[in-house]
Amino acid sequence: MRRNRRVKLIATLGPASSSPEMMERLFLAGVDVFRINMSHATHDVARTLMFNVRALAKKYACPIGVLADLQGPKFRLGEFDGGRQIIPGGSIFTFDRTETSGSNARVFLPHPQIFEAIEPGHTLLLDDGKLRMRVIEASADRICAEVLVGGPLASRKGISLPDTILPVGPLTKKDKADLECALDLGADWLALSFVQRGQDIEDARKLITTDTAVMVKVEKPSAIDDLDAIIAMADGFMVARGDLGVEMPVERVPGLQKRITRQARTAGKPVVVATQMLESMITSPMPTRAEVSDVATAVFDGADAVMLSAESAVGQYPVEAIQMMDRIAIQVEHDPSYSSIVHATSVQPQPTANDAIAAASYAVATTVKLSAIVCFTATGSTALRVARERPGLPVIGLTPVHATAQRLTIVWGIHPVMTSDPDRVSDMVNKACKLAVEQGFVKAGDGLLVTAGIPFGSSGTTNMIRIAYVDEDGNAVGGG
Ligand code: PGA
Ligand code: MN
Repeated sequence: MRRNRRVKLIATLGPASSSPEMMERLFLAGVDVFRINMSHATHDVARTLMFNVRALAKKYACPIGVLADLQGPKFRLGEFDGGRQIIPGGSIFTFDRTETSGSNARVFLPHPQIFEAIEPGHTLLLDDGKLRMRVIEASADRICAEVLVGGPLASRKGISLPDTILPVGPLTKKDKADLECALDLGADWLALSFVQRGQDIEDARKLITTDTAVMVKVEKPSAIDDLDAIIAMADGFMVARGDLGVEMPVERVPGLQKRITRQARTAGKPVVVATQMLESMITSPMPTRAEVSDVATAVFDGADAVMLSAESAVGQYPVEAIQMMDRIAIQVEHDPSYSSIVHATSVQPQPTANDAIAAASYAVATTVKLSAIVCFTATGSTALRVARERPGLPVIGLTPVHATAQRLTIVWGIHPVMTSDPDRVSDMVNKACKLAVEQGFVKAGDGLLVTAGIPFGSSGTTNMIRIAYVDEDGNAVGGG
């Protein structure tokens, strides 16, 4: 399925989008990757969704990515008397270890780790940041806090601790079971929520026995503090603006979005901008102007993908929302200012053969005015390095590995196609030309650049660039 844009679209599956018919409509409207949210999907539901995605990919002979998103440690309060209490602003409120229903002055907090880690002066946010408190005193069984912003608070609402580094990894018992399920189903990407430090990624990787790629959802202030290590250790990133905007002042989110996007791009790893992108389309067939501008900003920033959450999971207009993202992306990418804005993030090649080949490919293809770059890639790493340059021409990633093709669906500008490894250089050039013509990227007379590693079939050996032209019959000239 050839898309007319470089940025990729992700849609979260949910009750509004889980039927095979709806998934097909979403795919045809532009979805490159489906997200399964393990916070909500049972293992049976996840299995059915995965089966449906793979069947759809087979029907259209086109790789489709699957991102399985783990819930992570989400902390919740205990119960309140009557289910809900009004907490007065300016009062003192206590969290304790007594398992009885709470009042407007205290509540049970069923997370001993919070008592261990919290310190006076730290902020507590309740119910997505609607209530705000500051800790005055903390011990192993009591936290006393001053209520800075009060209001109604219901049982089991979430509690966030933006200043506190908690002695927990990003994987709860539920997450570990969900992770196992996701790997078993063959998810291409696994997203980790509430990652706090680079070490969390290392811990999670110990449980990942397959070549599933790890995406870190950047949504904790501690993750921002440790961003360099996190960028170095994960395979991809999500600017998870929902929780990020609870844990940090919302007005900091746009600047952080720019910083995370830029750092991920510089590292040559995919970055997804997520949450509330077309929020009003949950209930309206048209977005607000501000939402259109928000999607456009992510595209101008050169993000790899933009994501729909509730819009496609539970909204009334999932197909319209994807069509809208598709139209915004195409328009932005054709804007006269797009190229200069996207290339304002400069990338310096690192001293590796892959980087040298990627940078040279881009330079050669633009100097000679070629029509496409074709990368033979086993692990996807060459294709990633080429995409890092954000070249203004199509990049076709040819791979014999299903998992690689599926993982690349999330990457900016890469059109992944399955093919067997060529056995000779002439075969390689012929294959590249034939597939580029078949997929509609080049026509007779066009030139293309081919990168590959020789010997074929061994990974991490990209060491060759070839220029070839397509003749009248769609065959390669200048191949052998
Ligand atoms: P969530 O993640 O929807 O799973 O919380 C995205 C976000 O926090 O923005
Ligand atoms: Mn989140």
